[in-house]
Amino acid sequence: MKLDTPASKIFMVGPTYAKRLEKLKIKTVKDLIYHFPFRYDDLTLISPINRLQPGETATIRGEVVSMKNEYTKSGKKIQKGVIQDQSGEIEVVWFNQPFLVKTIKIGEKYSFSGKVDWFGRKIVMVSPQYEFLRLEDKPTIHTGRLVPVYPETARVSSKWLRSRISPLLGQVLPEVDDFLADKIKKKNDLIDLAQAIKWIHFPENKTQAEKARKRLAFDELFFVQLAGLKRKKEWQKKNLAHQFSVDQEKILEFLSLLPFELTKAQKRCVKEILKDLSKNKPMNRLLEGDVGSGKTVVAAVAAYVAFLNGFQTAVMAPTAILANQHFITLKQMLSSLGVKVELLTGGRKKTKNQFDLLVGTHALIHRRAHFAKLGLAIIDEQHRFGVEQRARLIKRGKAPHILTMTATPIPRTIALTLYGDLDLSIIDQMPPGRKKVKTWVVPPSKREAAYQWISKRIKGTDEQAFIICPLIEESESLQSVKAATVEYKRLSKKVFKNLNLGLLHGRMKVKEKDKIIDQFRQGKLDLLVSTPVVEVGIDIPQATIMMIEGAERFGLAQLHQLRGRVGRGQKKSFCLLFTEITKGKAFQRLKAMERVYLGMDLAELDLKLRGPGEIYGTRQHGFPDLRVASFTDLDLIQKSRQVAEELITKLSQSPLLKKALRDYKEKSVEPN
Ligand code: ADP
Ligand code: MG
Repeated sequence: MKLDTPASKIFMVGPTYAKRLEKLKIKTVKDLIYHFPFRYDDLTLISPINRLQPGETATIRGEVVSMKNEYTKSGKKIQKGVIQDQSGEIEVVWFNQPFLVKTIKIGEKYSFSGKVDWFGRKIVMVSPQYEFLRLEDKPTIHTGRLVPVYPETARVSSKWLRSRISPLLGQVLPEVDDFLADKIKKKNDLIDLAQAIKWIHFPENKTQAEKARKRLAFDELFFVQLAGLKRKKEWQKKNLAHQFSVDQEKILEFLSLLPFELTKAQKRCVKEILKDLSKNKPMNRLLEGDVGSGKTVVAAVAAYVAFLNGFQTAVMAPTAILANQHFITLKQMLSSLGVKVELLTGGRKKTKNQFDLLVGTHALIHRRAHFAKLGLAIIDEQHRFGVEQRARLIKRGKAPHILTMTATPIPRTIALTLYGDLDLSIIDQMPPGRKKVKTWVVPPSKREAAYQWISKRIKGTDEQAFIICPLIEESESLQSVKAATVEYKRLSKKVFKNLNLGLLHGRMKVKEKDKIIDQFRQGKLDLLVSTPVVEVGIDIPQATIMMIEGAERFGLAQLHQLRGRVGRGQKKSFCLLFTEITKGKAFQRLKAMERVYLGMDLAELDLKLRGPGEIYGTRQHGFPDLRVASFTDLDLIQKSRQVAEELITKLSQSPLLKKALRDYKEKSVEPN
């Protein structure tokens, strides 16, 4: 039996089960032994029958004295058996499993694990797990131990998985070669790989389970980072389109023309970027900064450097509206310096005009733009920009510098883990004078009052409000569009009859969207009802109210981004978080929005309260899917990063590690 043997060849699996296993992404022997339990049922208490106490969950071992089906008064079938050991007898009962009478054989020895309880006036064991004791001293797998519970799928139960994985481990663990050297394991307090796989499935105690988890979590984090570092190395091997020279004086001149002074954080980020730009290797840097922290101007400096060197810049935005906004801002900042800024819109296939800087959506710039001399690509609000997409920016083997910008406040350690191939600059400071957006969580009982409050504030004033519909799916689906449309109608007809409302969603034509946004910008609309995913970056200074429906469905970082849409002008601004829940953890999480105003603080709080899977763990975003590890495990992240950095340089000498990395990349969902 080899690790890459197809699952259908495993003893007692066969083609039917192999097909079902595919739903769990199990195709080979290796996949099956890497299908880890997500918890254990503690059935370790083994007790003589006469010592059983009502209320406890215990395991007994004994001979089946009798087994029979009985009918209750209501016509249901119950199964009753009597089990005997040296200390005494007890009755066991199940409900509606008539086949048990045939499966469980009278006169044979079994192990039973279950809850002991009163049944009428007798103490019985209720619906226990059972396991035939073929050999007295063979370890049990379903009872009398820490019993692994697995992710299941239709007609593949944890019991089935246990009974296949257990014998398989004996056969294949000798095939598992550890790619980590003993020295590294010792230094980082990690156990052997084969041992870890054995113990993650069938630990004898919690210590073994924890040691196994630690080793396998280390491996996960290690491979995410090793793969990232490898991508980084490969990117740096690319030939640069052109090595820029950086003219400090010209940059100071550019900065002196701005109506404000850069914050300390912006200055630091500019410096980091300029340093990259003057190298002879293509930059691949992530610029992370809260909504409104001023990323655009930092990016503009980089674009100006490209211009001064006679090269073009591409600016890619996730939506047409954001592209339009970037176009306006960048033009304002750069055109007086001679930079020709152009916008590529959906209507046109390419721009006829000459340009130094071209703004468009990701899709447009990829497919249609033709750059004579691309020197810099700036990518806005994109979580991830894969190797494949990067490759499209390379022309005749020459790579441009790449600057990716995100407002998602990913804590530094996590960003470094996730984006091993990116260098990181963080704007961790807001421009001075920014006002806090007063935030309230609004329970159902206060909904009406909140509507009235909004009406009063807006009617006859120049203040405006956003209404964000609940998050239904990650991407703009027809369902979300429908929900927004329904809500728009309801609000127009019933709630805000005397106000002008507009509707915005991602399935509208670009022209319609532009029209609505323009109307809103000009104050012709009082309220803009929008789906959550459309316009994260929209900039309307006179909007003062952000109202979010179904707020509990959003991550705190997302809510914070939406909140950042208001409070941009001089007026006091407000954020109303509508929710149906009124207590519990999810409610407490929302309440944090009333106190905490820094994106990074909220992200860290969210991480603690929800776990990273729920925040970043969507496959669309290309975040790796961690099964054992957690992004909150800072110690393990650090250790695995150190080891990854050490081993990336020795990859060519370790065929075992190379193969493991290849296997990892095949499985990983990252878009590379
Ligand atoms: P984001 O990081 O969300 O993209 P922007 O670049 O759109 O933020 O900047 C938000 C607003 O703050 C813009 O109106 C911009 O002109 C302004 N701004 C940027 N930097 C500063 C600064 N150092 N001082 C004052 N205002 C600034
Ligand atoms: Mg922005």
